[in-house]
Amino acid sequence: MRIAIIGCGQLSRMLALAGIPSGVEFSFIHDDRNQNRDCVEGLGIIEFAPEKKQSDGKATYDATEIEQLYKALGNPDCVTVEKEQVDLELVKALAPLCAIYPSVAAIEACQHRGKEKALLTRLDIPTSAYFYNTSAVEAIKTLGVPAMVKSCTEGYDGKNQWLIKNEADAIEFDTLDIEDYIIEAFVNFDKEVSQISVRGKDGAIKHYPLTDNVHVKGMLTQSIAPAVNMTESHIATAQQYMESLLNEVEYVGVMAMECFVIGDHLKINELAPRVHNSGHWTQLGSTTCQFENHIRALAGFILGSTKQISVTGMLNLVGNEPPAFEKIAENAKLHWYNKSVKPNRKLGHINFIGETHESITQQMNNFS
Ligand code: AMP
Repeated sequence: MRIAIIGCGQLSRMLALAGIPSGVEFSFIHDDRNQNRDCVEGLGIIEFAPEKKQSDGKATYDATEIEQLYKALGNPDCVTVEKEQVDLELVKALAPLCAIYPSVAAIEACQHRGKEKALLTRLDIPTSAYFYNTSAVEAIKTLGVPAMVKSCTEGYDGKNQWLIKNEADAIEFDTLDIEDYIIEAFVNFDKEVSQISVRGKDGAIKHYPLTDNVHVKGMLTQSIAPAVNMTESHIATAQQYMESLLNEVEYVGVMAMECFVIGDHLKINELAPRVHNSGHWTQLGSTTCQFENHIRALAGFILGSTKQISVTGMLNLVGNEPPAFEKIAENAKLHWYNKSVKPNRKLGHINFIGETHESITQQMNNFS
């Protein structure tokens, strides 16, 4: 069994590290020449995606070059992704040669915020009210202020987002040359949680427990699972929304759903058609981690148990300096991504296991 992953980042690295023990082999498609490949070096075949060529005024891939790429990758049984912002044309060009998991439809829906909102709305899954490509001045008449503007395709970790605090901001935004965006109502949430789930080829679904997430300037800094103060209703609702999404797009693999908690209700902020940073804790705190379950789903194995072993926290290592490795305690595990150190770059994470949420929080605070 060989799986090719589009992307050479840390998620590809951890997918390979989780699949290799089961005898699965990996190949990586280096699709972004601005990204380096250090994370996956030594874990399998790495090949550049071919350049697109102009044909009938449209940039497309040459079928012969795609076949050459497929052979150079070692004729993988399937192709998967480590990020939503992959070139759909590349995915579609590979589709005649092998299975694509998750489906092209799932990747397409999740890589564009407007399409993602439309999918949620079609399935009656609550999400904040929004307008697509509408003047900010017009939109805030309905949405009120503050409101959030988000680029449909370029934004992640809070990038390419603007907070419209008042009418003056809206007027200023409307003068900018920005296309393909949504404006959505600001949500006064109690907290943010995520649901990570996996669906197999046979339609079987398993859910991990809800996870508490802390973001700073839009970027995830820490997670703790299981999320505290979640009622049976929160849990059942999150699982029901997830199942409806997974079944709708005949999903195979792991999907992440980021949710705002508002009292007894959930509003869905974002979907990711892939393993997710808020699921990294499963490497230490669950019988089967999200990475292994993604591989098991793609390989057609029985999905592994998502049962939680213990309270677990995850602290992202972001930034300027390598961590103080000597501070890693006996019940903590470091995952270092083999990247060069740069400001605001996710370089690694540490998973902490413990008896209580308090002890985990204390360990994470001691470290950071
Ligand atoms: P996103 O890129 O959509 O995941 O947003 C990054 C972070 O910005 C979220 O995790 C929230 O903390 C915050 N955020 C995004 N959308 C909203 C919203 N509509 N209202 C309030 N906060 C938001």
